Amino acid sequence: MAEKVKAEKEELAEDVIIDVEKAEEKKGRTTHEFNKESWNPRTLLGKKVKSGEIDSIDYILDNRLNILEYQITDILMPNLSTDLLLVGQSKGKFGGGQRRVFRQTQKKTREGNKPRFGTFAILGNEDGYIGIGYGKSKETVPAREKAIRNAKLGIIKIIRGCGSWQCGCRNPHSVPFTVEGKCGSVKVKLIPAPRGTGLCIERECKKMLSIAGIKDVWSQTSGQTRTKLNLIKACFDALKKLTEIKIKKETADSLGIVEGKINA
Ligand SMILES: [Zn+2]
Repeated sequence: MAEKVKAEKEELAEDVIIDVEKAEEKKGRTTHEFNKESWNPRTLLGKKVKSGEIDSIDYILDNRLNILEYQITDILMPNLSTDLLLVGQSKGKFGGGQRRVFRQTQKKTREGNKPRFGTFAILGNEDGYIGIGYGKSKETVPAREKAIRNAKLGIIKIIRGCGSWQCGCRNPHSVPFTVEGKCGSVKVKLIPAPRGTGLCIERECKKMLSIAGIKDVWSQTSGQTRTKLNLIKACFDALKKLTEIKIKKETADSLGIVEGKINA
């Protein structure tokens, strides 16, 4: 009997979480504004960005400067779209429940169970830039804010091209060559695909690639891909590796390689 009551209580708690998620979604779209004047930068890079000395994110990324203040990304890239990935799972009978945005963990204490929430945010301009970040907190709202802030700090620029033998259109709609990323036991391989293929990859990675601006890709994964956090990190690792390879200019022309924005 006691167990039944407990189960009911847990279900109630779940419903509350869903309501909070919905309310946040509504809020997130309206109250996403940033005031440049009220920001007081603390790093040298931040001061340069505020004064207008640095007016492009490419300068920061090309020189490998550390972004330590998220407002820098806010100023230099105002039109980023953000998304939360489904990394959590609701409790449920018969083999687990639905996938959720918040990953809920519990610490057992004398006072009772202390829940914590973690969430994974991605952001990008759908044109060659992408960032990912993980945030966790005692409540859902700060966890999401932290995740988005971390994603802004970890923004990267990727290269795109057409590396498929079946296409050869020289437009940057896919990846220029095969890359493999790894995290834990998970390996993700991104393979160039001809135009019109779409993103043949797991759902959360699909969100990542489309926010990064890649339209066609084939993929291969191995390892425990049920561990979504590792899968996402492995996919991001693969995207990072695109920029780590030195390419001759002739090759870049024949593969239609574009770094960052198409119209840059
Ligand atoms: Zn092509």
